[in-house]
Amino acid sequence: MGNSRVNKIKILCVDDETSVVEALRRLLRENFEVLTATSGAEALKLLEAHPDVGVILSDQYMQGMSGIDFLQRSRTVVPNAVRAILSGQIELRQISEALNRGDIHRLILKPWDNDYLRIQIQEAVTTHGTLLEKNRLRQLAITDPVTGLSNHRFFQERLHELWRRDVGKSIPLSLLMIDIDNFKAVNDDFGHLAGDQVLSEVAVRLTSSIHEGETVSRYGGEEFAMLLPHTDGTQSRLRAESIREAVAKAQFAIPQGDPIRLTVSVGVATATSHADCKRPSDLISAADRALYRAKKQGRNQVIVADPTLDRN
Ligand code: GH3
Ligand code: MG
Ligand code: MG
Repeated sequence: MGNSRVNKIKILCVDDETSVVEALRRLLRENFEVLTATSGAEALKLLEAHPDVGVILSDQYMQGMSGIDFLQRSRTVVPNAVRAILSGQIELRQISEALNRGDIHRLILKPWDNDYLRIQIQEAVTTHGTLLEKNRLRQLAITDPVTGLSNHRFFQERLHELWRRDVGKSIPLSLLMIDIDNFKAVNDDFGHLAGDQVLSEVAVRLTSSIHEGETVSRYGGEEFAMLLPHTDGTQSRLRAESIREAVAKAQFAIPQGDPIRLTVSVGVATATSHADCKRPSDLISAADRALYRAKKQGRNQVIVADPTLDRN
């Protein structure tokens, strides 16, 4: 029996009436690990400590914070938990709005029938498992296995999202295309495993250089794409320069032998409105052409796409 407790799914029950949470605990404890709270604030604290809660069952009318408000706020802490309201009287409009927003998944009426409630919870647990699995597949689909960075698919999605969100409102969006110089020689001299390790280390450095809202993805091969929202041409050139400099100064460990040195070339392009950047792919082309020029001019340098000359 020792580890049966460990494997039990956690259910959080929230109600300002102690007798209700105790009744729920008795009903559910045989099959689940039951956590209880008597207010939304207390429940949110509990969730911080138990981010693996699978199902949340909450009363609607409580002092301080309503059940719907609590469940909505719980989304950021436990996005995969299934959230249910357990309430006597409920306004249908309130509930349907919360359902539509995805703040809650189901409604259970008080007084409840024990067998019915158990079935509802069991179904919620199944839904939770499905959500977890969906999330895992989504992560797999957007992750590059060599570096752990987001991949080309994610990059495209994010670029389109930012292009619609910001560029349409004339908020600048910059793209850095970062390509390792003479990377083929790393493979040739030290083997592909060393090459893989170097790619991972470059990925770590690039990740540590981004700020909130920015993303870095493996575009393909030894090429990385960094999206910098709200960043104009001047700022993005500075960012690219500091990345180029940091890589040139760094040492990169390889499985056997002394650490090696590397450089990168960076192509920078900025979209400032839908007029100067008709499609997201225009931004990629401009950064690509700048990168190509950086390579041609000797590598280990940053070239910023000229917004007027580079358009075709
Ligand atoms: P340049 O300075 O012009 O960019 O030269 P380069 O050698 O970096 O570029 P090139 O495109 O000629 O070669 C890229 C190399 O990157 C060839 C390919 O085998 C290697 N590569 C691509 N993906 C991986 C990977 O996942 N692991 C390893 N080890 N090597 C990779
Ligand atoms: Mg290269
Ligand atoms: Mg390349």
